[in-house]
Amino acid sequence: MTSQHLPGLAGARLWAAARFPYLASGIFATQVTAAPGAESVAVDEQWRLRADPDLAGQWTAAEFGSVLVHHVCHLLRAHAERARALGIRPEDAPQWTRAADAEINDDLVPAGLDLPGGPVLPHHLGADPGGLAEQYFRPGYAAAAGGDGDCGSGADGQPRPGESPAGDDQPDGDGGLPGWQADLLRRQVAAEILRHGREAGTVPAGLARWAQQTLAPVVNWRTLLAAELRRAVADRAGAADYSYRRPSRRAAAVGDVVLPALRRPVPDVAVVCDTSGSMTSELLAMTLAEVEGLLRSLGVIRQLRVLACDAAAGPAQRVSSARQIELVGGGGTDMGAGIAAAAGLRPRPAITVVLTDGFTPWPAQPPKGMRVVIALLGDRSPDAPAWARAVRVPTAA
Ligand SMILES: [Zn+2]
Repeated sequence: MTSQHLPGLAGARLWAAARFPYLASGIFATQVTAAPGAESVAVDEQWRLRADPDLAGQWTAAEFGSVLVHHVCHLLRAHAERARALGIRPEDAPQWTRAADAEINDDLVPAGLDLPGGPVLPHHLGADPGGLAEQYFRPGYAAAAGGDGDCGSGADGQPRPGESPAGDDQPDGDGGLPGWQADLLRRQVAAEILRHGREAGTVPAGLARWAQQTLAPVVNWRTLLAAELRRAVADRAGAADYSYRRPSRRAAAVGDVVLPALRRPVPDVAVVCDTSGSMTSELLAMTLAEVEGLLRSLGVIRQLRVLACDAAAGPAQRVSSARQIELVGGGGTDMGAGIAAAAGLRPRPAITVVLTDGFTPWPAQPPKGMRVVIALLGDRSPDAPAWARAVRVPTAA
């Protein structure tokens, strides 16, 4: 650590904390040191910021304060971790940093961020505002004017010489924040952003969105639905997965040992679609397409039968694609009628998936010998019956 004086740091921090009070915890948790000759301001993932005093000395308090805020946002938004998740290569790191810069700046420049030089904005990358770095990132996109230059490994996830490796929770002697403390700090700042938004109402929308997702991450309904369908299919197929009835073709290769043959009975699946008046047809079509895709990946699409159901169930339609399905209906709702109609199909489906907004009566008991997976569509759906497996599909999915 260098003890060299960093001109203007105190004034920069005060400006930043006054202009962006909901980021103050992040601003003051950042460990700032002077890095003479570095010609940059850069952060690492342990919340250490190294600034060239000659560079910082040319800035006003607003400019230096804005640089601090900008770098804090790289760390809050976990840009390094996200760069690794995206598999950013060293040669793409500058473009990733520009994408990450645009994600930060498009929200904060209108809120008073005053960066020295031209800040990177989404339109410099040919993109609309309000997006994420992953959407802005264009490998090989010709560099446009402006840019904050290298923001450090805390922005692009590429370790710099002399830094501790990425994800290493052992700070290398400078007292940086270990990963678990950085996570706590992120959550603390997120809570302060939401509180400030409620009380003063002046938080940039993108930052508020980040805070909400940090504190209450939306579980991906596709992942949940896939897991439920996989579980249902495995339950029906599982017990007979490996059978010793016939030796497998590999048996010859291992002498006397008889290997089990893979035997996978494919269960029949029916889908009941709520087509009553309260349903949003777009959300229904999207979810049905998702169910179709999941079942296809599980190898059961050829057995798919779809029933449109409002107060009564329509005839089953055998389909090989969600696009072929006619969803006619309207009026009242009774998904119990749809489930009963599915149970009456021959051959009887082993699994029935119900797509509904949930504003329906349900049978008190589960159908015998048939699993029911319910996708609750929309944001205000009542709960599904306890005997069924349910997944919520929000409107903005
Ligand atoms: Zn940056």
